[in-house]
Amino acid sequence: MKIINSIDQMRALCRAARTNEQRLGFVPTMGALHAGHLALVRAARAQCPATAVSIFVNPTQFGPNEDFAKYPRTLEGDQKMIEAEGISLLFVPTVEEMYPPGAATFVNVEGLNDKLCGRSRPGHFRGVATVVAKLFHIVEPDVAYFGQKDAAQVAVIRKMVRDLAFPLEIVVIPTVRETDGLAMSSRNAYLNPSERKQALVLYRALCRVQTLADQGERAARQLIEAAKNVFRDEPAVRLDYVEIVNQETLEPVNDVSQGALVAVAAFVGSTRLIDNIVLLGTGHTRIA
Ligand code: AMP
Repeated sequence: MKIINSIDQMRALCRAARTNEQRLGFVPTMGALHAGHLALVRAARAQCPATAVSIFVNPTQFGPNEDFAKYPRTLEGDQKMIEAEGISLLFVPTVEEMYPPGAATFVNVEGLNDKLCGRSRPGHFRGVATVVAKLFHIVEPDVAYFGQKDAAQVAVIRKMVRDLAFPLEIVVIPTVRETDGLAMSSRNAYLNPSERKQALVLYRALCRVQTLADQGERAARQLIEAAKNVFRDEPAVRLDYVEIVNQETLEPVNDVSQGALVAVAAFVGSTRLIDNIVLLGTGHTRIA
């Protein structure tokens, strides 16, 4: 497998793949691949005759004091994993290729860009929407795959695709977890052994919310309070937010009878982790 660095070459190869095989799937990532990413790649492989993957640590979605510089970059291992999945289109552009000098055009999904992580990380979703729009223009996929792990990102991308009439389908893959429940994330690599244990509080809080919802609790305020109580038992972890929102609009809901997204973000040491579950409107719930 050859790594493709240039936009023109990637576009030409993707067009050729679409012509020959018709349906092109696309999995955008920032690399440091793990089983969560591979679940997306495998879904794409199962559903599309051709699949493209991108690895790009996108500077515009990181804040000035965030981890862009130290974000794990493990291209050699990633390439092997992608190759083992039978993928031949791997796009790894440089920052200069994606943002030529003077690049000044951004995609802002208004109303969503300041919700959940967008509030804690100003500009984050503008960076995400901009790079994903650009990748969609380069790859021109029929189907693009995203993880439920980043539920707010899914809402932003879905709205962008609808508002800007991108001719593609979005498929969302459930969150892949470690055996003890921790959501897989490239940032888990930052955790030392004691932080790794503390990090489980995100999952425990979500499980508590799920249990209460299963028992019939419908008030978002009560569910949020219960989640916060779980965090109080792990004082080394600093809660950023726990919110219960409409899955599409990301607006807070008071009552979860119609279904809702329960999203948490917290700092474990200096590592910011996120997780979420979806409460179903029927009265049943599941860990997504
Ligand atoms: P990232 O490399 O973190 O930008 O993630 C690339 C894609 O993989 C995004 O659509 C993520 O939502 C998805 N992803 C990351 N972690 C997981 C996971 N644990 N389970 C499912 N999808 C994931």
